[in-house]
Amino acid sequence: AVVLVTGANGYIPIWTVSSFLSRGYSVRGTVRSSAKGDHLLKYFSEYAKEGGKDGVKLELVVVVDITKEGAFDEAVKGVDGIAHMASPFHENVDDPEEFIRPAVQGTLTLLRSAQAHAGPQLKRVVITSSCAAVITIQPTARTFSELDWNEQSIDEVKAQGRAAAPMTKYRASKTLAEKAALEWFEERKGTLGWDVTWVNPPFVFGPAIHEIPGNKPENLNTSLKAWYDFVLDTKNPKGRDALALSNSWVDVRDLADAHVLALEKEAAGGERIIVTAGAYVWQEWLDIANAVAPSVYPGKEIPKGYPDILAGGPEYKVTYDTAKERRVLGVGYRTKEETVRDTLADFKVRGW
Ligand code: NDP
Repeated sequence: AVVLVTGANGYIPIWTVSSFLSRGYSVRGTVRSSAKGDHLLKYFSEYAKEGGKDGVKLELVVVVDITKEGAFDEAVKGVDGIAHMASPFHENVDDPEEFIRPAVQGTLTLLRSAQAHAGPQLKRVVITSSCAAVITIQPTARTFSELDWNEQSIDEVKAQGRAAAPMTKYRASKTLAEKAALEWFEERKGTLGWDVTWVNPPFVFGPAIHEIPGNKPENLNTSLKAWYDFVLDTKNPKGRDALALSNSWVDVRDLADAHVLALEKEAAGGERIIVTAGAYVWQEWLDIANAVAPSVYPGKEIPKGYPDILAGGPEYKVTYDTAKERRVLGVGYRTKEETVRDTLADFKVRGW
């Protein structure tokens, strides 16, 4: 089988490419320029060579502008499944449309290309949405589920425009993209020979295998950069209030596997599915990093933070109901310890 992975060079996408290849799927990846594909072709050189590895192949297609109608017409031809992952997630944004347009139009052009040009073998399109499309920011602790929609960020962006926080713009873009795709799909599902599944992860952490410009932590993708800044940046250690903040997370490799399961499991069709390993308080990551560093990254100085934050047990503000994920996908999750070990080992090799 052949799957298309859009934005293949990104942090989560490249791990997803890896999961598909190792399970015997040939992968066609899209990147915005051929230069952005060089690292992928090198990293997966066994699969990228003529004939692939035991017939399992990686090939890349350049899609310069995902918002252009027909952008994916060629890329979708003959694929059995699609993981649509390309979408902006960074802090360098002014006009909210810089996020909303590629998120929404990029998804709709992909769906329209799939409808018109993929072919009858196409079974499913898995769209990487986000818990950004689920969560609302509020003062009290709350457990969210697939029934929750983040209207709040859309309203804030409408009210504040450019003045809205970058992450508010991001969350609005993910909510609007998921809604637009859902509406598109609901209107046509009887006429399509395939269905759509949304995977909604919270913060994604764990080692990186994508290209990081200059091999510098400041050039990391947004979520892993946050982890680096909170857990390892001894020059700008975070204060007590920041380290008491909590959220939910998933290891990038487990999330990659979740995309494969989302494509394979019949019952995932038409569903949005929250994929998370559970909740964390930032101080927990510091404690674990301090505990494992001597064996994984000897001599590495790690901020101690404020361990008393956890004195009465961790207080989690944002948790998710994972019943649907367990029923439909059954992802196996790494523990915080495993993720910290592997991330520190990765950073050690990078000399960070
Ligand atoms: P990365 O920034 O590493 O990857 C994003 C990918 O999307 C890259 O291939 C990037 O291409 C592409 N992209 C960004 N903006 C555009 C655009 N305007 N037009 C076309 N392509 C674009 O981030 P992640 O791996 O973290 O994100 C992958 C997906 O996962 C996204 O959909 C994101 O919303 C989602 N997600 C991420 C979470 C996280 O914590 N990391 C949590 C929940 C969801 P290029 O390199 O050329 O810019």
